[in-house]
Amino acid sequence: MSFKPLSPQKSDIQYHLASRKKDKIRSDIIVGTGDNKVIINDENLTIIAGPCSLESRDDSVALAKTLKICGANIFRGMIFKPRSSPYSFQGVGKTGIETIKAIKSEVDIPIVSEARNESEADVIAENCDLLQIGTRNMTNYQLLEYIGRLNIPILLKRGMGSTIEEWLCAAEYILNQGNQRVILCERGIRTFETATRFTLDIAAIPLVKELSHLPVIIDPSHASGKRSLVPPLSIAGVGAGANGIMIEVHNKPESAFSDAQQTVSVETFSELVKLAKIVSKTIKFQ
Ligand code: PEP
Ligand code: MN
Repeated sequence: MSFKPLSPQKSDIQYHLASRKKDKIRSDIIVGTGDNKVIINDENLTIIAGPCSLESRDDSVALAKTLKICGANIFRGMIFKPRSSPYSFQGVGKTGIETIKAIKSEVDIPIVSEARNESEADVIAENCDLLQIGTRNMTNYQLLEYIGRLNIPILLKRGMGSTIEEWLCAAEYILNQGNQRVILCERGIRTFETATRFTLDIAAIPLVKELSHLPVIIDPSHASGKRSLVPPLSIAGVGAGANGIMIEVHNKPESAFSDAQQTVSVETFSELVKLAKIVSKTIKFQ
């Protein structure tokens, strides 16, 4: 009996466009325009901050002004909220567009906002600078393909039950429709541990940077579910090479409309930004 060797194995990578190519060049992703545009790459630490969900116009404008002074360079202007319970606050909806417009004209800071479906994606693409796909929609492949044809950068959160490969394949769905501006966000995964809301997968940060040319940021707020854990996890993520952090902040954290228990005060945010910047300047990974 003769043994016939297999023909040379083709690469089994399922995410060709998202993978880090031989030249190892990383993508810079630009969010916003003009003087306040943000370049998300290894040279800058991007700070995204704001409430879990947008509230009144005046409070939102005031908070955006304060957070910009404290070092935020992208504001969370979430108007459509994907909530685990149908009885929880679902966001202010389309009425929040006026608030987003007011923040853009009065504060001049790029805004990220989430879309749960195609029509919301059109609204966000028209009025905001960065479109978020939340953890619950990471495997909504038709939505990923749709936003892959829009002209707005995408913040793609990792599915709470998804592997790193599945996350990179989700990015591939967007990239292969033409939209090359994808930023990945590690926001915690489901494990056996229930003491924290999710488990922040720190190893995912350096690993994804090895596997992909796309920038990666972390969201320690949703990962931990607990405000006291947000500063240490932010520092851990930046120390592991994250290109940015996304933090839920409120002027009165206890009375935030949603996710109050994981929302930090402006003072805490300001301190953690200072520390995160020191860590980011000190530690540089290739
Ligand atoms: C959010 O950032 O507003 C959010 C809902 O996050 P996640 O999709 O990670 O739960
Ligand atoms: Mn939240």
